[in-house]
Amino acid sequence: MTLNRRHFLSLSGVAALGAGLAPLLAARSAPPAASFPYALTDAQWRARLTPAQFDVLRREGTERPYTSPLNDEHRKGTFACAGCEQRLFSSSTKFDSGTGWPSFWQPLDAAVGETRDSSFGMVRTAVHCANCGGHLGHVFDDGPRPTGLRYCMNGVAMTFAPQA
Ligand SMILES: [Zn+2]
Repeated sequence: MTLNRRHFLSLSGVAALGAGLAPLLAARSAPPAASFPYALTDAQWRARLTPAQFDVLRREGTERPYTSPLNDEHRKGTFACAGCEQRLFSSSTKFDSGTGWPSFWQPLDAAVGETRDSSFGMVRTAVHCANCGGHLGHVFDDGPRPTGLRYCMNGVAMTFAPQA
């Protein structure tokens, strides 16, 4: 009985979250299963990416925290997708989340898409590159102002170009 009720409550929570996110998802993205403007075969991706990049971008892996040099990148510039070079985040939206992953409170316009991720027994919102579909990380609602969002990114999935 208790279990059933808890189960019900948890499902309600998920439904509420889904309803809240639906307009956001519709406006921003297609699901990863959809085709993307920049598409390569797995073999082509393997040839183009390092094994660590391939694991994150093409297999939704997660890098170990505090391993990316981009954590400590504080120059002005732009973070781009390591798979297709699409510009993703401006340094002006980067903040230190204390998580060990590069974190941002807002992506560049139309740069990323978001999907529901229910792996590992959690319901999270996964973030992918809108151009190639590469997995970048997740977005949470405990970020700083002005958006209150925390885009928790895998540094290995991105490159950084300092402002000229
Ligand atoms: Zn990309």
